Amino acid sequence: MTTTTHILGYPRIGEHRELKFALEQYWRGEIEQSELQHVGAQLRHKNWQTQSDAGLSFSTVGDFAWYDHVLTTTLLLGHVPKRHSAGFPDLDTLFRVGRGQSQADCGCSGSAASDMTKWFNTNYHYIVPEFSQDDSFEVSWPQLFEEVNEAVKAGHKVKPVLLGPVSYLYLGKEVEQGFDRLTLLPRLLTAYQAILAKLAKQGVEWVQIDEPILSLQLEDQWLDSFKLAYQVIQGDVKLLLTTYFDSVDDSLDKILSLPVNGLHIDLVSSPNQLEHVAARLPDTWVLSAGVINGRNVWRADLNKQLAALQPVKQRLGDRLWVASSCSLLHSPVNLELEKTLPSDTRSWFAFAKQKAQEVALLGKALDGDKEALDACHAYSQPILERKTNQKVNKPQVQLRVNSITKTFAERCAPYAERASYQADVLGLPLLPTTTIGSFPQTDEIRTQRSAFRAGQLSEADYTQALKGHIADAVKRQEALDLDVLVHGEAERNDMVEYFAENLAGFQTTKFGWVQSYGSRCVKPAIVVADIEREKPITVEWSTYAQSLTSKQMKGMLTGPVTILCWTFPREDISRKEIAQQLAFALRDEVSDLQDAGINIIQIDEPAIREGLPLKKRDHQTYLDWAVESFKISAASAKPETQIHTHMCYSEFNEIIDSVAALDADVITIETSRSNMELLKAFEEFNYPNEIGPGVYDIHSPNIPTEEWIQGLLRKAAERVPTERLWANPDCGLKTRSWEETEAALTNLVSAAKSIRKEWAEKA
Ligand code: GLN
Ligand code: ZN
Repeated sequence: MTTTTHILGYPRIGEHRELKFALEQYWRGEIEQSELQHVGAQLRHKNWQTQSDAGLSFSTVGDFAWYDHVLTTTLLLGHVPKRHSAGFPDLDTLFRVGRGQSQADCGCSGSAASDMTKWFNTNYHYIVPEFSQDDSFEVSWPQLFEEVNEAVKAGHKVKPVLLGPVSYLYLGKEVEQGFDRLTLLPRLLTAYQAILAKLAKQGVEWVQIDEPILSLQLEDQWLDSFKLAYQVIQGDVKLLLTTYFDSVDDSLDKILSLPVNGLHIDLVSSPNQLEHVAARLPDTWVLSAGVINGRNVWRADLNKQLAALQPVKQRLGDRLWVASSCSLLHSPVNLELEKTLPSDTRSWFAFAKQKAQEVALLGKALDGDKEALDACHAYSQPILERKTNQKVNKPQVQLRVNSITKTFAERCAPYAERASYQADVLGLPLLPTTTIGSFPQTDEIRTQRSAFRAGQLSEADYTQALKGHIADAVKRQEALDLDVLVHGEAERNDMVEYFAENLAGFQTTKFGWVQSYGSRCVKPAIVVADIEREKPITVEWSTYAQSLTSKQMKGMLTGPVTILCWTFPREDISRKEIAQQLAFALRDEVSDLQDAGINIIQIDEPAIREGLPLKKRDHQTYLDWAVESFKISAASAKPETQIHTHMCYSEFNEIIDSVAALDADVITIETSRSNMELLKAFEEFNYPNEIGPGVYDIHSPNIPTEEWIQGLLRKAAERVPTERLWANPDCGLKTRSWEETEAALTNLVSAAKSIRKEWAEKA
């Protein structure tokens, strides 16, 4: 017998983002549904074939999704929100739930998309299932069964994957007051029974049933519900209960009593669990060891993995399976396309296709295949050699990080003192107005950037063009009479990519796309070496912008934690160390900006909350180093230099202590969508510094009226002392047009002016 090998899922988007382009063409009405179906079918076949060719024991089926795999499950269960559920669910139903339906499309009043939220601690977003008391579930959408047939017909040995019932419920939300969605479990289980019975009829032996919530610190009623769930759905097929992204430490006792046939654990996020899980594994179960990292881009050290797995193989024999840690959905598709990467760097990476090959090779080597053992050895060499590579290890960077003491992170004066210096230097009115950084990225800017990147526009001409956009932005802001101006970020395609391209230690790729949501993909840069700022990055742009105005120009940086969260990190040093290296690079940029006459510097940290580990007990450790990194980058500022930070996208109530601990002089924060609700947390906590609650929801095409903004500002003043309030939009304006931007900011500035008057009269 040979070791069983598999992956938990393959990227669905295609190595050239074929699915993205087909979807968008279909949505624009440019292609027929049959054409879209054809693209999907081809991608699936290619993915299964890649797995077969690699030599994996199974091809995984059911991981393909037209939009999102949670949404696929929603349709499979016939659980479409009522506002979208006219008739039998089809592909268009699915898109309506994911994207909403506009008035123009339906000739009705339109219906909103379901919410979207982050998939655990990844940058993938899923469509949140909606639950009501009288929901019913009935197997409806045949995609899974059809795909099983397709794959079997094509000669593959299939292992369908299914999101498990308890995780499906847990990941959704109640859309009615006063009921608990867990009460729907029995009804839901009937549908799962039917699905598994159908798969059994199709000849399926194993089903990978994903219950990723088993890696969380679950409340008792959720953890306890697994027993009922798996008692009901067991029987028709063998179930591989699949966990990932963290350890099963908290749930292992309960897991081991479930009537399933095997367990998958993530040994990349938590390698230490291998020993004790293997030791306690029931005699009839298989253990699927997730050793190949499904969510990063690094080539595995197969020798090391082999050494860890060999003793377990001896104990478990064929009951040990080898796998990717999680679905490969979170890694780019195919390294072979990266023809222009330097060859040494290239030999450090593995994308999804290569990871599938790694899993298969490891399986063979575990079986003692001599050729495979040699191949593992040779394959691991570049990763081992990298450890002493001089381009990777920079003593001067390491020295700085190793010399961190508490004082590095502290500004040289407390906030109250800083605030009075700043008041003198900056000369700002009560309730100052500002924006978050970016201004519209017009077609003109994009065209110029592409031309520059393609070598059709010289660097000098490109710089000239950017300066033109900056001058234009400054002129418009002066006309609007904003108090603190920004240069507009025309030179940045993306707030993280820009810094990754300008700092030493990063590698960018050409085709390293990963699905973010629906048809949207991101192409994160990769941290490959110690990070160093070789020269100033933003100083030229900011000082040029400052030279055009007598108002304060705000410098604009992306913070260390956000850069870390939105790139592929190294695996040989900790995330904390990477954040600290970034912090020092930014610290030098802060110094240079202030020396060049920039008095206000914003360090954006929108991703700080996303970096939270899955288990609550690990939160504080993360927050401590995240906050420290931010503070290291800000602490080179003199007392009279005003440091801003900006956060958006999520609820910050939970981490308000850490937000305050950043000790930024001003925080601008997304609040307008929650009608200033978030400010309650700031009030209750007694947030000591200045706050700019967003009063213009930039995600909406609606222009807020002056009265609306005044209302929000009055609300804000109920919670925050007026002398510590700012008026600003929710987030950057790069996705809006100038027309909308100017209309909204006109209202924002005049609202601020009249509110100032109101407050002055009251005082
Ligand atoms: N300064 C950035 C911008 O305005 C902030 C973006 C963000 O918060 N995501 O675009
Ligand atoms: Zn933002």
